[in-house]
Amino acid sequence: MARIVQKFGGTSVADIERIKNAALRAKSEHDAGNEVVVVVSAMSGVTNQLVAYVDQMGGLFDAREYDVVVASGEQSNAGLMALALQALGIQARSWLGWQIAIETDDVHGKARITGIETAELEKRLADGEIAVVPGFQGISPANRVTTLGRGGSDLTAVALAGALKADRCDIYTDVDGIYTTDPRIVSKAQKLDKITYEEMLEMASLGSKVLQTRSVELAMNHKVRVQVRSSFEDSPGTIVVSEDEIVEQQVVSGISQSTDEAKITLLKVADQPGVAAAIFGPLADAAVNVDMIVQNISEDGNTTDLTFTVGMADLEKAVAVLEKNQAEIGVGEIVADSDVVKISVVGVGMRSHAGVAQKMFMTLAEKGINIKVISTSEIKVSVLVAEEYGELAIRALHTAYGLDAD
Ligand code: ADP
Ligand code: ASP
Ligand code: MG
Repeated sequence: MARIVQKFGGTSVADIERIKNAALRAKSEHDAGNEVVVVVSAMSGVTNQLVAYVDQMGGLFDAREYDVVVASGEQSNAGLMALALQALGIQARSWLGWQIAIETDDVHGKARITGIETAELEKRLADGEIAVVPGFQGISPANRVTTLGRGGSDLTAVALAGALKADRCDIYTDVDGIYTTDPRIVSKAQKLDKITYEEMLEMASLGSKVLQTRSVELAMNHKVRVQVRSSFEDSPGTIVVSEDEIVEQQVVSGISQSTDEAKITLLKVADQPGVAAAIFGPLADAAVNVDMIVQNISEDGNTTDLTFTVGMADLEKAVAVLEKNQAEIGVGEIVADSDVVKISVVGVGMRSHAGVAQKMFMTLAEKGINIKVISTSEIKVSVLVAEEYGELAIRALHTAYGLDAD
């Protein structure tokens, strides 16, 4: 007997037929004698619609009420899934975040899970009941509904699997596994049998949203065995594993892209001590996350140029903060550009292989693609290029690193 958490994403529970189909997957694990917890997302498109309703209310909104609204898509699907399971003759009930309880902090809209009470769930599971849990939601110390950030149902599933010491956490979605790059963009993308937690964490945070970033982090820290697989086909999926479980490590395992980037260039910045602190301090105070940074060497010893990236959602705020401090810091001109994309190659094999970055630069040069900003870490190289070259860049790199399917 195994204990399994199954999570069904938005497209997998997009209508009643699909909910019934997902229920059959839960039933077959249950019939095999396993204990099953089902985590459901909202029907695909529903969360976006709920967010739009809040926006249409206009103005600054109360984040606590935003959470009440956007958490509701998962709530109705949990009830529908429990009904679908009952119709199959299985004892099942839904458990909302507060009923379990899935405790979080009070950072509404992107709350962190702080604890999960499992005693009652475990008792029910032992009795053969399937627990159906809406993803994406929890309860704050002030007894308010919280949500875990977009894509957060993955996090609910992994956190429950960790707390319940489940043998597996199966993430059912609309692709049959994790690929070398988004298979919807590159048709030659290859499905990976296994990927390391570290690589998946980098890929997710660099734009491969097949798993939510924080869910991968949690899985890594709690050694949760996560498998990404298809709701619609029976093919084996991709397992996220520790590095020692991978026998033959590729140098580059995957390529990610993020269009959620904007570039800000500050021209004629005074070249003197304390300027970087004066620029990035107010941005940090305004909760703007700065990612890639390059500063040019000053040619005349007086002024220099500084370029950095921020998330698209923060662009307006960042520019406003900079304009406010422009004269005081000594910045000549502020130039913003949102037509950029960050392309990253990721692989733990980079630690022991030289030349990965060089291959990336050569490949892009051969295609005539100009690199605007570069950043590296131990297992990734990222470049910022004009958005119009994004797809061309990914395809060329995918071929250059030998990742194309035959
Ligand atoms: P769900 O609604 O089931 O949570 P998501 O849309 O969040 O599904 O994630 C699945 C999608 O992730 C796929 O449809 C695919 O387009 C995208 N994706 C991005 N990068 C990858 C990758 N490297 N491998 C597989 N899918 C990827
Ligand atoms: N429904 C939520 C979203 O669209 C959570 C999820 O599906 O993971 O972001
Ligand atoms: Mg998702």
